[in-house]
Amino acid sequence: MSRVLVVEDEMAIAELIALNLRHSGFDVVVAHNADDAQAEIDKVLPDLLLLDWMLPGQSGLALAKRWRSVARTKDMPIIMLTARAEEVDKVAGLDAGADDYLTKPFSTHELMARVRAVLRRKAPHALDAAVEVAGLRLDPATRRVCIGEQEVKVGPTEFKLLHFFMKHPERVHSRAQLLDRVWGDHVFIEERTVDVHIKRLREALVPAQRAQLIETVRGVGYRLTQHVTDAVA
Ligand code: CA
Repeated sequence: MSRVLVVEDEMAIAELIALNLRHSGFDVVVAHNADDAQAEIDKVLPDLLLLDWMLPGQSGLALAKRWRSVARTKDMPIIMLTARAEEVDKVAGLDAGADDYLTKPFSTHELMARVRAVLRRKAPHALDAAVEVAGLRLDPATRRVCIGEQEVKVGPTEFKLLHFFMKHPERVHSRAQLLDRVWGDHVFIEERTVDVHIKRLREALVPAQRAQLIETVRGVGYRLTQHVTDAVA
């Protein structure tokens, strides 16, 4: 599921944006000031940033410029939110490195259209279609895993892990590769963490009788097999 960070000091606007994004299947985190935003980015790099121009103590424009100058955040998609509709401001926003620009007040429809357009251009993985393996269906848009009509409850990290496996069935992935591809920017995570989440993922798949989908390849890593059938009682 794609993660969107909303940096907006007006609570009502932040909540409205968060509500709409969550409704469309996004994982949303809200920060009300520059320090909180930086702390969130340090924890997890978002797939998209919605950044208000006018923030207490710090302008969104200055923040965008700063993030563009740092290797870790230089490609992070940014949509600026602003009450200023002057063309000169629009140009300043784009010059600071914003990928797009939304002028308040904006409609939910326009917000979602721009979010999708920027993601399509800069982070197409965030808009992935549903995948199905061995009767198990995973939909990134709704963040749901189902087997038939039955929903399978998985945590956020296990969801990402399962999604990656389902997109690359039968291939063996080392722990380092999984960390790189699934955790992405989490620099400080040990390889042992992968084992912990694999265990949780298998446990989550037990009620659906799909735990055996995730195979351990001794000395190499893990793989998802497509050849699983319902266990005979
Ligand atoms: Ca503001």
